[in-house]
Amino acid sequence: MIYYVDSMDTLTAAEGLPAEPSVGLDKHGYQRVRSALAFNPSFLPTLCILVMDAMILAAVAMLLRQDSTPAFLFSQVLLAVVFFNCFSVLHECGHGTASRFRWVNTLVGHLASTFCFIPYYPWKYIHLKHHTWTGSIDRDPVLRSLQRWRNSGVPRIVRFAWWTWIPLAALLQHFVYLTYPYVMWRSGEMTRIKLARTLCSVLWLPAGYACLAIVAPDLVAPRNWLLAVALFLIAEELVNIPHHVDMSAFDTKLPIWEQYRATRSCYYPLGVSELLVLNFNFHTEHHLFPSLPWYRLRGARKLLKQALGERYQEAIGIAWNIEHRKRDLQSIIDRYRSTPVLDGTSGVSDDQPSRQR
Ligand SMILES: [Zn+2]
Repeated sequence: MIYYVDSMDTLTAAEGLPAEPSVGLDKHGYQRVRSALAFNPSFLPTLCILVMDAMILAAVAMLLRQDSTPAFLFSQVLLAVVFFNCFSVLHECGHGTASRFRWVNTLVGHLASTFCFIPYYPWKYIHLKHHTWTGSIDRDPVLRSLQRWRNSGVPRIVRFAWWTWIPLAALLQHFVYLTYPYVMWRSGEMTRIKLARTLCSVLWLPAGYACLAIVAPDLVAPRNWLLAVALFLIAEELVNIPHHVDMSAFDTKLPIWEQYRATRSCYYPLGVSELLVLNFNFHTEHHLFPSLPWYRLRGARKLLKQALGERYQEAIGIAWNIEHRKRDLQSIIDRYRSTPVLDGTSGVSDDQPSRQR
């Protein structure tokens, strides 16, 4: 049973092409929606999340002192919540939407990076590239693995991890972020300021863990966080992968108002959406309005759903994962090989394939 609205639902069998519904969003429609939104960030909602996380960490420390399996398991769920919260806060700070002050975003972003194991600036540089090239299978860093696997096949271990829900991809992406300064240097993108920023962000992590070992030695003992990290990695995959995988791909840069064509939102229960993932699941809204603070994305959803009509793509909960984890990952990647790539330069109403790859 299919629970989500997806371009795959409307594949034209004869051509293997996603037949996108005819209603869309042009530049003027986009500006109309944009003008109805407020972009000035207030730090208060994010500060409330950080205070909640500090209280959760205090509860985790108390639970870990109890010699009880249920208390331990509960502590791991709570820790995973903090880890995902911090990933969401890092994301806000990277977009400059946690605070109107850049230094606050940088400082809080680094603080959050400690609890989601992601170096701030390397992640930020990759993520901004992702927003620029969303849906480009050649240039969107999020789709880089798909490009490699499209050409050489999906490794067996990755297919096994996909089918068994083992979050291998989420684990590996953390190493991608940690080694990204080297990749920037190899590709000639590194400048002095970027070198200083990325190295500071990478070195911040061991420094932060050393401080934690002094302040809260219980928390840094591996037996007290390994299960929570595994839960966090599973959540990262469940939340992140549906946003862009199995969507249309493009061979040029999409205008920002057309990024809905390469992005899918997910709808979660209110508490999960607002308190756990900070509305990161309203991903189409985020891609069209990346400088909109997280607590205003729900309002943007209402406006975008009206403006996009059938073109608004949304999965319910983790339904996309349930549906697609049963499939061989190779068959999902094969779609990128066999489906003609749509030309991103075409207008909103012109969705005919322009180039076969
Ligand atoms: Zn983003």
